Amino acid sequence: MSKVIVVGGGAAGMMAAYGAGLCGHSVTLLEKNEKLGKKIYITGKGRCNFTNACSEEDFLKNVVSNPKFLFSAIYTFNSDAMIDFIEAHGTETKVERGNRAFPASDHASDITKALKKALDEVNVDVRLNTEVKCVLFADDQAVGVEIEGGKELNSDHVIICTGGLSYATTGSTGDGLKWAKQMGLNVTKTRPALVPLNVKEAYVPKMQGLALKNVKLSINYGGKKLYDEFGEMLFTHFGVSGPLVLSASSIIGSFLEKTGTLDATIDLKPALSYDELDARILRDFNDNMNKRLSSVLRGLLPSSMVPVFIEIMDFDDDRQINSVTKEERAELIKLLKAFPFTISGLREYKEAIVTQGGVSVKNIDPSTMKCKNINGLSFAGEVLDLDAFTGGFNLQIAWATGYLAGLSI
Ligand SMILES: Cc1cc2nc3c(=O)[nH]c(=O)nc-3n(C[C@H](O)[C@H](O)[C@H](O)COP(=O)(O)OP(=O)(O)OC[C@H]3O[C@@H](n4cnc5c(N)ncnc54)[C@H](O)[C@@H]3O)c2cc1C
Repeated sequence: MSKVIVVGGGAAGMMAAYGAGLCGHSVTLLEKNEKLGKKIYITGKGRCNFTNACSEEDFLKNVVSNPKFLFSAIYTFNSDAMIDFIEAHGTETKVERGNRAFPASDHASDITKALKKALDEVNVDVRLNTEVKCVLFADDQAVGVEIEGGKELNSDHVIICTGGLSYATTGSTGDGLKWAKQMGLNVTKTRPALVPLNVKEAYVPKMQGLALKNVKLSINYGGKKLYDEFGEMLFTHFGVSGPLVLSASSIIGSFLEKTGTLDATIDLKPALSYDELDARILRDFNDNMNKRLSSVLRGLLPSSMVPVFIEIMDFDDDRQINSVTKEERAELIKLLKAFPFTISGLREYKEAIVTQGGVSVKNIDPSTMKCKNINGLSFAGEVLDLDAFTGGFNLQIAWATGYLAGLSI
């Protein structure tokens, strides 16, 4: 039996402590907050989309950074295992659209409740309000941690599960990243991901609150399409948000750092080809020759977009349909098929669902989560350079890597 210290009582830390406890180790879980899993309470808008009930192959397709590294973890503890685990600890679950799994009650607290029950079952010593200041070393071996107040706690093994940098108010303040750098480990560049985007054009905030459904968002870099997906998005007072935008943010971050800005377009009528749209508009125009252009545009566009179209096309407000030229109609169609805006940056960590980048997976043995060059030390969860799209994948990364880390001691 080894003495194990787990630092961080989030998703990965709780599961790491459970895994180690299950193997009969003496486990202490240290959490600086007054409660475990503070971030879990706000996941899935308070409902906690705790995993995605898809195959391992599909799971790995939804991982943005280092999917191959997760092979062992996800085949050791997949989404079925997580659902069974939650159910076995007293919380009923349900699976919704897109294989997203939730507690049946729609209360994220029921996921934490199940985890706490599991921790009790394997006698994990949970210490709340306990902030770890640093990891202690003797030679090349981690031998414990120092907590606030200078007290030292000794152990045979330390598992760092301190999370990333997003939503720091939940406790993820990047401590593990700082320690890893001090230990000489490679930490890849971090950036916010699954985050809204700032936009340059002043006409975008004018559409604040407008949600678009069934549109195609395309983002280009050097003449190449970086992102090209159908779905929903939202205009805000600073730029754009919504499911399509959050996913795009995970893909474009590194490119945005190189160029400062990226060109994006929205196809507002993705179901219609250019010619089909032209025929439809021609029909509308013919039926409304003596009406104002803005009234016809209202039949084609959400009303808050109409003044923006008029502004971009530099039309007078009272312009009549019968005066619109063929060239102007072509420009209108172009605008409908490729409404342009310029992405000028990612929003901040405090708005980001995850952190991209972290402790390099090159430092870590993927079959155990142990640090390759420091004995007695493992990492799990978002502190690692791992991130995925929305849908329950990020929490499943935390559960699976945490479980494997605990089980491997
Ligand atoms: C608003 C929001 C919604 C989300 N919704 C979903 C969702 O529905 N589905 C999904 O899959 N993912 C979701 N995520 C992402 C998911 O919550 C994270 O990926 C996951 O919680 C990461 O788990 P973790 O244990 O690695 O880190 P964290 O959950 O960040 O936990 C780290 C823990 O370590 C503690 N800690 C840090 N430093 C110290 C220290 N020095 N001493 C002691 N303790 C320390 C922190 O207090 C914290 O409790 C969401 C994230 C956010 C912000």
